[in-house]
Amino acid sequence: MLRLVAYPSRVPAETLKDIYEFTREEARQWMVRHDFSPVHAARLWNYLYLELAENFDAMPELPARVRAALNAELRVGVLSTAVETDSSDGFTRKYLLELTDGERIETVLMRFTGRVTACISSQVGCAMGCVFCATGQMGYTRHLTTGEIVAQAVHISRVLHQLGGTADTGHHRLRNVVFMGMGEPLHNYDAVIKATEILRDPNGLALGAERITVSTVGVVPGILRLARENHPVHLAVSLHAATQAERAALVPAAKKWTLDELMAACRTYSETTGRRIFYEWTLIEGQNDTPEHARAVGRLLTGLPAQVNLIPLNPTSGYDGAPTRGEAAKRFQKILADEFSLPSTVRQRRGIDIAAGCGQLAAESA
Ligand code: SAH
Ligand code: SF4
Repeated sequence: MLRLVAYPSRVPAETLKDIYEFTREEARQWMVRHDFSPVHAARLWNYLYLELAENFDAMPELPARVRAALNAELRVGVLSTAVETDSSDGFTRKYLLELTDGERIETVLMRFTGRVTACISSQVGCAMGCVFCATGQMGYTRHLTTGEIVAQAVHISRVLHQLGGTADTGHHRLRNVVFMGMGEPLHNYDAVIKATEILRDPNGLALGAERITVSTVGVVPGILRLARENHPVHLAVSLHAATQAERAALVPAAKKWTLDELMAACRTYSETTGRRIFYEWTLIEGQNDTPEHARAVGRLLTGLPAQVNLIPLNPTSGYDGAPTRGEAAKRFQKILADEFSLPSTVRQRRGIDIAAGCGQLAAESA
C-alpha cells in the first residue's frame, strides 16, 4: 500500500532556508506556526549553539515530527572547509570555507595574547578596492547572508571545541568576533547587524556585550546609522592616512566619503554612544609610517576617544608597497603616546606565513 509521507526526505539544500538566519524569537514563531510547542525552539537552540549539531537528525530530543518538519523547510548551514592552514607558531588557523553556491570566504581563528578571537567575513570579495588589500584586488561578488556570517562563528566554535582537550589552548569558548575578514561590513549592514544579535543571544553563542568589533573602511551613512541605533558593538575605522589626498590614493572609497565627513561621523558616533573608536592604520614603508605621518594622525584624533591599531602591511601580489621596517612602528607608537597621549597597539605579525592578511588565502587558492 502506498503510504503518504508528509515531508519529502530529501530536498535540495539550496532551496531550504538556513536555520542560522533565525533569531531565537523567529525560531519560536516558526514552531508556533507549525503547531509545535515553543519549548522545542529552546531545545533546538541548545543543539545548534551549545552542542554545535550539524543537522536536525542529530537532535534526538526533538520529536520525530518536528525534525521532519525542520528537514522539509530548513537546513543547518554548516560551511565545508575547502582549505585549512596553520601558522608555524600555532597561534593562527585560517579556513577557506565553501558556501552553497561554491563561493569561498575566509575565516580565521586567532589565539594569542590570552584571547580567542574569530576574524570573520561579511562579503564574498569587496567593492571598496583598497589598493593594498587582497580582497579589494579581487572585486565584489556578493553579500553574505546573516546565516553565512553566523555559520563562520559556529565553525570556529566547533574548532575550539575539538581543540578543547589539547593542552595548548587553555580557552575553549569563542569570546571575541571581529569583522575584519573579507568584505566591508557596513556595505552589508542589515545582515551583519542581525548576525551580531544572534551571536550575542545569551542562550546561543552568548558573545559578551562589547566583544564584537565591526571594522569599516569609512562608510559614513553606516557609521551614522550605527550611532543612531546604538548596537552594543565596537567600531573600528580603517584610516591609513590623515590627509584627504593620501587617503584617497590608498582607499578609493574616500573619494565618496571624504576624510572630513568621516571624522565628523566618527565624532557623532563617539558623542552619541560614549564609545571609543579603534582607528586602524596599515603601516606601509615610506608612505604612511614616518614621524610626520604619526604627528598628522595625532593631530587628527586630538580630542576624540581613540585607540590606534597599527598593522604592518602584509604584502600582496597586486600591490608593490612594502611593510614598514625596523623601528618605524615603535617610533610611530612613541610619538602618538608621548606627544598626543594616544594609546596604540602594533598588531602582532603572527600568521604572516599563512598569508593571514585579509583575503590573501582566497586570492592564492583561486
Ligand atoms: N572592510 C573592512 C574590514 C575588513 S579589512 C575595513 O577595511 O576596515 C580589516 C583590516 O585589514 C582593515 O583595516 C584593512 O585596511 C586591513 N588590511 C587589508 N589588507 C591588508 C594588508 N595587505 N596588510 C595589512 N592590513 C590589511
Ligand atoms: Fe574592502 Fe576592507 Fe579590503 Fe578595503 S581593506 S578592500 S574595505 S576588505
